[in-house]
Amino acid sequence: MKFGGTSMAGTERIRRVANIVRRQQHAADGTRHEIVVVVSAMAGETDRLVNFCREANPLYDPAEYDVVVASGEQVTSGLLALTLQAMGCPARSWLGWQLPIRTIEAHSRARVEAIEADALLRALDAGEIAVIPGFQGMSDQGRVTTLGRGGSDTSAVAVAAAIHADRCDIYTDVDGVYTTDPRIVARARKLKAVTYEEMLELASVGAKVLQTRSVGLAMKEGVRVQVLSSFIDDNATPADDLPGTLIISEGEMNQMVENGHMERQLVTGIAHDKNEAKIILTRVPDRPGSVANIFQPLSAASINVDMIIQNVGRDKGETDVTFTVPQTDLLRAQALLEDRRDVIGYNRIITDSHIAKISVVGVGMKSHAGVAATMFRALADRGINIQAITTSEIKVSVMIDEDETELAVRVLHSAYGLDEEETA
Ligand code: ADP
Ligand code: ASP
Ligand code: MG
Repeated sequence: MKFGGTSMAGTERIRRVANIVRRQQHAADGTRHEIVVVVSAMAGETDRLVNFCREANPLYDPAEYDVVVASGEQVTSGLLALTLQAMGCPARSWLGWQLPIRTIEAHSRARVEAIEADALLRALDAGEIAVIPGFQGMSDQGRVTTLGRGGSDTSAVAVAAAIHADRCDIYTDVDGVYTTDPRIVARARKLKAVTYEEMLELASVGAKVLQTRSVGLAMKEGVRVQVLSSFIDDNATPADDLPGTLIISEGEMNQMVENGHMERQLVTGIAHDKNEAKIILTRVPDRPGSVANIFQPLSAASINVDMIIQNVGRDKGETDVTFTVPQTDLLRAQALLEDRRDVIGYNRIITDSHIAKISVVGVGMKSHAGVAATMFRALADRGINIQAITTSEIKVSVMIDEDETELAVRVLHSAYGLDEEETA
């Protein structure tokens, strides 16, 4: 069971979480579940800690940043163990370095390599609830690492895989995965199930309900994941009856469709991402090696480039190259490119962080044409200008002005027939 930041925000909320855990431990049919709980820091806490690091040293050392930001989860794991104990449930916390959860050295964006589960399994055998702080691990050097923002989801899936859990329930502040962010489109529909592949794509283009890496890991390890709400009362449908959204394999999905439990849609969901920025290099020499000169230094600095467009050479031998990078890397990317201006040979560098990427995702696209055309038409009808386009087998993304994000998401949600029927 994993509980996110809003679910852990304060002692009263933690008490509710403890109650959900206790009810899950003693299922209605009398079976007793063995439970490991993974917790996030209280809502807003990680942001607060990140700001402290920035204030202390704008060019902070990521290893020390990890020491600071990992503390938010240490607090909530201890508090949940205390609260469970107060209810008479034996419980203890297991910090990342105590198990340990081994990760690669990459501070602030580490990847889990292995989890030693022996101590956990012994604790479960003894009837204890194990509470693990999400987000944190330990490097080969014995130092604290963190898994990138939203990383507690990945901690939960990794722990579930390590102990061969029956299921990994991700409790959050919405009751499942919706056709789009329900905070933007009130008529978004909750999905009974989503395939790993679609969820991976949705997460990677901005649906922050699950960290992208957690979905990739669940897919690789075959972990059964359910997303559900922690904002429930004692009468709520038990988690074992699957009230939330299941993340499942395509084979399982096909079965659900055949049995009439799910309808196949052309588009499964729509996501938006305001965290990218656009860079344009003008009048780049149109010859072999130019583009490599641009992207090589960015790659060496671990800056992820997403959308790329190279215009047809306007004048003889010159072309404009446009691409996007994460907003947090914009200044670094710009500095690197300015340093290499002579080597690359461009004229001007223009940047714009006032953009958004809107994506439509669905495995139905593999076998049906027309998804992109519908998108472009619907946006055009509302006068929304498309600045760039990228596609994959199950996704179409467009770059637009950031101010038009909400409008575009709503328009597309209707255009693909995803709006929930209005109930009287
Ligand atoms: P937690 O703190 O529990 O990890 P997050 O804030 O990371 O929660 O993720 C939950 C949020 O994800 C929701 O409040 C919702 O606004 C947002 N979200 C974005 N896209 C979707 C979607 N397609 N379905 C459900 N929630 C979504
Ligand atoms: N507390 C961390 C964050 O805010 C990890 C998480 O909540 O998943 O990014
Ligand atoms: Mg999250």
